[in-house]
Parts: sequence; C-alpha cells; structure tokens
Amino acid sequence: FDRMKQAVSRTREALSESIGSVVALTREIDENNLDDLELVLLASDIGSVTTGEIITHLRERALRQGINDGAELKSLLKAELRRILDSVAHPIAHPSTPPEVIMMVGVNGTGKTTTTGKLAALYRSQGRSVLLCAADTFRAAAIEQLEVWAGRSGVQLIKTRQGGDPSAALFDACTAAKARATEILIVDTAGRLHTKSDLMKELDKMRRTAEKLIPGAPHQTLLVMDATTGQNGLQQARLFTEAARVTGIVLTKLDGTAKGGIVVAIARELGLPVLYAGVGEKMEDILPFDPAAFVDSLLD
Ligand code: GDP
Repeated sequence: FDRMKQAVSRTREALSESIGSVVALTREIDENNLDDLELVLLASDIGSVTTGEIITHLRERALRQGINDGAELKSLLKAELRRILDSVAHPIAHPSTPPEVIMMVGVNGTGKTTTTGKLAALYRSQGRSVLLCAADTFRAAAIEQLEVWAGRSGVQLIKTRQGGDPSAALFDACTAAKARATEILIVDTAGRLHTKSDLMKELDKMRRTAEKLIPGAPHQTLLVMDATTGQNGLQQARLFTEAARVTGIVLTKLDGTAKGGIVVAIARELGLPVLYAGVGEKMEDILPFDPAAFVDSLLD
C-alpha cells in the first residue's frame, strides 16, 4: 500500500489540490462544484466518457439526497472509481498443468521489455520456475536487452536472431518449457509492425503456434501501456486489443505521471483490468495492482 501511495503521489497531489480548490470542505456541493470537478477529472486523464458517467451519477445523487460537503463528495467519488475498476476484474484462468504461457504485447517504448524482465524476477522471487522467450525480432536491441534482464534474475532465455521468425523462437521456447516442466513462459513480442494487419497476422500466428504445443496457450496476453502517454496511449492500445485477445494491462511509468486517472479510463473504455503497475526502472519496481489500494491512495 505504501509503495502504491508513493507511486501515485503526483496524481494524488494534483487531485487533492484541485478538488480542494473546487469545493470548500464544509459546504454543500452545488452544480458549479460538479462542473469544476468534471474539469479536474478530465485533467487527470480519466477520459471524457468515464468522466461524463461519473459526473452524471454524482449529479443524480446531489439532486436526490444532496451532497453535504467535500468529504462526502470524495467518498462518493471513491465509490464511483471502485465500481468502474471492480466491474472489469476477473479471476485469471491459470492452467492446471504447467507451463503457463504469458504473451507480452504493446507499442515500442512503453516498457514492454523492461516489464518482461521485471515479471520474470517477480515470479522467480515467488519460487516459480520461469523461461523467457525473446520474440521481439523487430527492434534491434530488444533481444540483448532481455538477455541482460534474464541474467539479472537468473532465468533462461530462448531467442532467435534479429529479423528472424518470432513464431520459430516461440516454438522452441514452448518445446523447451514443456520438456523442462517450467512453470511460467513469458514471451516478449514485437511492438511495431508495418500495418495493423501485419500485427494481427503475426500475433495470430504466434498464438496458434503456442496453442498447438501447449493446450490453452497463451493463457494470458498482457498489454503493456505507458501511463504518461494518456489518451493517445489509449488509442494505440485499441489497435492491440483488436489484434490480440488481450486479457489484462500492465501500466508502466505510473511513477512518472500526475495523470494516474488513466487506470480508470482503461477499465471503462477498454474493459480490461490493470493487473500490474510499473513504478520505476529497477527490477523490483513492479506492483501487483490492487484497485482498492489505488483508489485509497489517490483520494485519502
Ligand atoms: P520497450 O520498447 O517497450 O521494450 O521499452 P523498454 O522496456 O526498453 O523501456 C523503455 C524505457 O522506459 C526504458 O528507459 C525503461 O527503463 C523505462 N521504463 C520502463 N518501465 C518503467 C516504469 O515503470 N517507470 C519508469 N520510470 N520507467 C520505466
């Protein structure tokens, strides 16, 4: 909880300062306050659709029973955010026999390779066996970068050369993971292709390769998103949700933004839960995402 609080400190400060400036804490909330609150929510990247919905609910409440003061407004806002985040939560379908295959997808520069490395270290620290597959054969340094991460966390890596066929690397990795009874296979994929249909074709081919060797694979497809890219990042993310069966989001660089409201926009507009948050550049800077801790950290 403390690490989450620290990670969203910039968002919390921005929110509490602006909420403080739109409502006098001791006065009843009126229509003007809600208009101002709308701007505050938009500024924190909660997104126009989601903000509109929240403000509508608060307005209904204000008309029906009134909102007595700023503290009550904050707690109603918390409940709204929780409702949206909880509505997309779902249990993860872990396979009954290993390996569990996790595909990492997302645009270059969002922190996909770093996150792949951090996740490997996280699962290792939980005592699970991990194998990495470097299938980002598009970006020049991605394979070497993942090798460094593999070395740091003491996990094995299966790779192909740059420009090689990612599905070939994945085939080798699935075969190795099965032979070694590795518990978790994490696959780093290319973040950029020439067109959306190229992207779709490649991710689809990889999915079919994994599925052929390991029933139900990939069990999770995690889309890596950069919190600092806001609504623009949301647009790019849609491309991936259309190209792959994304099951959850890893939101990186939450430490570097005052607009952590993007978590709520992701839930409401992509219909996907944030499962992990990246909160720095180091190996241990990844947190399993807890909606309750997040909302409490934002608005306490
Ligand atoms: P990729 O192209 O998506 O594989 O991106 P990289 O993994 O190479 O990461 C791009 C940059 O973002 C690197 O400088 C990382 O150190 C940095 N980065 C990744 N995740 C985080 C995070 O959670 N917080 C911060 N502050 N930086 C991050």
